[in-house]
Amino acid sequence: MKIRWTLRAQMLVWVGLCVGTIALVFAGLIWREQRSFSAMREGGDALVLELLRDGLRQRGDSLAAQLAAAVANPLYFLDLDRIGEYVRSTGQQADVVYVRVVDAAGRIVHDGSRDIARFGETEAGAGRQPPVRWEGDLLHLEAPVTLGEQRIGTVQLGLSMAQGRVTAQAWSRSVEQGLASTRAAHVQWLLGGLACLFGFGLVGLYSLRKRVLKPIRLLAEAAGAVEAGRYAEARALPVRDDEIGDLTRVFVRMADSVERHERDIRRIAYTDPLTGLGNRLALSESLESRLLTLQASSGELALLFIDLDDIKRVNDTLGHHVGDELLVEVAARIREACAAEDLDVVELARFGGDEFVVLFPGADVRRRAEALARRILAAIARPLPLGERDLVVSGSIGITVFPEDAASAAQMVKNADMAMYQAKAAGKGCVRFYSRALDEAVERRVRLEHDLRGAWERGEMSLAFQPVFDLTDGRAVGAEALLRWSHPHLGLVPPSVFIGIAEESGQVEELGRRVLEEAMRAAAGWAAPAGGRGPFVAINISPRQLARGDLPETVEAALARSGLDPRRLHLELTETAILRDEAQATAAFTRLRAAGVGVWLDDFGTGFSGLSHLRRVPVDGVKIDRSFVTDLLRDPNDLALTTGVIAMAHSLGVTVVAEGIENEGQHGLLRERGCPLGQGFYLGKPMPGEEVARLFG
Ligand code: C2E
Ligand code: CA
Ligand code: CA
Repeated sequence: MKIRWTLRAQMLVWVGLCVGTIALVFAGLIWREQRSFSAMREGGDALVLELLRDGLRQRGDSLAAQLAAAVANPLYFLDLDRIGEYVRSTGQQADVVYVRVVDAAGRIVHDGSRDIARFGETEAGAGRQPPVRWEGDLLHLEAPVTLGEQRIGTVQLGLSMAQGRVTAQAWSRSVEQGLASTRAAHVQWLLGGLACLFGFGLVGLYSLRKRVLKPIRLLAEAAGAVEAGRYAEARALPVRDDEIGDLTRVFVRMADSVERHERDIRRIAYTDPLTGLGNRLALSESLESRLLTLQASSGELALLFIDLDDIKRVNDTLGHHVGDELLVEVAARIREACAAEDLDVVELARFGGDEFVVLFPGADVRRRAEALARRILAAIARPLPLGERDLVVSGSIGITVFPEDAASAAQMVKNADMAMYQAKAAGKGCVRFYSRALDEAVERRVRLEHDLRGAWERGEMSLAFQPVFDLTDGRAVGAEALLRWSHPHLGLVPPSVFIGIAEESGQVEELGRRVLEEAMRAAAGWAAPAGGRGPFVAINISPRQLARGDLPETVEAALARSGLDPRRLHLELTETAILRDEAQATAAFTRLRAAGVGVWLDDFGTGFSGLSHLRRVPVDGVKIDRSFVTDLLRDPNDLALTTGVIAMAHSLGVTVVAEGIENEGQHGLLRERGCPLGQGFYLGKPMPGEEVARLFG
C-alpha cells in the first residue's frame, strides 16, 4: 500500500519532531545540571572534610600549645597531680582521644589516667616523629614543653575526626536533599513544559485541521464535484472571512462561470441553429439515456422519423432561403402536433437536412405514435404561405418502438430510417412501422444500390427495344428503349426494382444520360423507308432528369453526337414528373418540341390530373397505361376512359399509344376505337437492338 504524504501527516510529523526535540533539549539540560550538581556535591564534601580537618588541627595545635605551656612548670617539678589535672581537663575536650605528657627522654609522664598505667613507658617516636601526623581519622599532635631555652618534654595529643565526619555527612545529606528536591522541581517543570507544549501542539493541530485542512479538503471535493458537473455542491461551500474564504469565493465564482460556459457550449452543441430544436447529438444522447433507464424499468419508447418529400425541389426552384423558412415552419408545426397529442415528448430534434425525429415514452406507444404521425402529416400538408405563393409539401414517417424492434439507440434510428424509407416508397404522406421483413427488404435495396454503381461501366447494363406498331396497317413504326440490368449474381433485375433505386440514389441522372446516348446511337442505324423519315425511338425520362433543368441541353448534345433526326426521337415522361414543376416542364417541352423532339405522356390515366394537363402542357402524345388496356374487355369504365382519351387526343391533335396489348381481343377493340399506335407482348416483346432493327428493314 502506498502511504500518501498528506498535509495532515506532515503536520503530525512536524509537531512530533518539535515536541521530541524540545523534550530532548530539556532532558539534556537537566542531565547536565544533575552532573554539575553531583560534581559540586562531591567537591563540597571534600572541601568540608578539609575544612573540618584544618579546624581540628588548629584546635589541636592551640590545645597542645596551651597544654605544653600549662604543664611546663609542673613537669619541671614533676608535679604529677597538676599535670594530671591539666591532662584530664584537656582530655575532656571534644574530639580529644588521648593526651600524654612525655619527658625529655621520651617516657610517658602522664596519660590522664588515675593510676598512670603506662608511667615510665617509653613513648616511641616522641620528638622523633613529625609533630603533626594523620593516621586515618586520628590526628596525632606533638608540642614541645619548654622551659626557657630547654626542652623538658613533649605533649602528645590524639584528636579524632569522627565527630567531624558525622557533621560532614549531615551536611552532605542536607545538600543531597536540597539537590533532590531541586531535581524533582526541575523534572516537574520539564514535564509541565512538555505537557504545555504537547497541549499547544494538539490545539495547533486541531485548529490547523479545522481552519486549513478541512476547508482545503472541502474545496478539493467541490472541485471534483464541479468536474463531474455537480455545480450546486460548489455553491454549498461555507464561506469564511479569511484567506481561505477568499479562495472559496473565487472558487465558487469560477465554478459558476464554468457552469455558464458549459451551458452555453451545450446549447450550441445540442441545438439546431435554424429551427431551435435539438440536433442529432441531442437526440442520440437523450435516446441513449432513455434506453438505459427503460432497460432497467421495462417501459416503452417510440421513435418517429419524419422526412419531408419535396425539400430538394423547393431548394432548387425557390432557393435555399425559402427551403430554410419551410423547415422552420415545419418544425413549428411538428411541435404543435406533439403538443396537441398531449404526449410526454422527451426529444424533438432536427436530425439532418429535412429529417426530424420525435421521441416519446409511455404505455401503448404504438397506437399513440401512429396518431401523432397522422397529426404531423396533416399539419405538414397544410399549405405553407411562403413568399408570394402557397407551398404544399408532404412528409413520410417511419416509426420504431423500443423494446420490440431494437435494443440499441443506433439500431432504433436505423429502423426508423428504414421504415421512413418504406413509407416514402409507398407514396407521399405515408406512415410505416418498422418490421423485420422490412429490414431485409431495405437491406436488399441497399445492396442493390451499391451494386448498381458502376454497373454500366462493368457492362452489366444493356438496352432492349420494344417495337411500337401502327394499328391501322400493322407496320412497326418505332421502338421504346428499355433498360436491362444483368446482375452478376442475381441475374436479371427488373427495371421496376432498379429504376426506383437509381431514382432515389440519384444514379438515374447518369444512367439516363447513357440511355439517351446509347438508344439514339442504335436508332440512328435503323433503316429508313424510301422517302420516309425512319422509325422513332422512344426513351423513358425519369422525373429526376427533368428536375435537373438541363434536359433540353443533354438531349440536344446526344442528338448532335448520334446524328439522329430529332423528329425520330420521342421522350416519355410520366405525369408525376410534370406535376412536380409544371412551369419548368412546360419550358423544357416547348424547347424540345421546337427542336423537333416529340414528348409523350407515359402511364397516362394513373395520375390524378386526368385530361386537364393535356391542355396546359404541350405534349405530342399519350401512352394509355397498361392497367386500362388489361381490363379493356372486362371493365366498361376502362373502355369508356380509353375511348374518351382517344377522342380527346384526336381533338387536341396529339397521338395515342396503347401499352401492354397482350391478346387479340385487346388489339381488335383498340383498332376498332381508332387507337393509332399500339405496343405489347402480343405485338412484340422487348428485344435486342439488332433484332428490332430487322423489323424496320
Ligand atoms: P414503361 O415505360 O411503362 O415501359 C413499359 C413496360 O411495360 C416495360 O417493362 C415493358 O416490358 C412492359 N410491357 C410491354 N408490353 C407488355 C405486355 O403486353 N404485357 C406486360 N405485362 N408488360 C408489357 P419494363 O421493361 O420492365 O420497364 C418497366 C418500367 O421501367 C418502364 O415502364 C419504365 O417506367 C421504366 N424504365 C425502363 N427503362 C427505362 C429507362 O431507360 N429509363 C427510365 N427512366 N425508366 C425506364
Ligand atoms: Ca415508357
Ligand atoms: Ca408506360
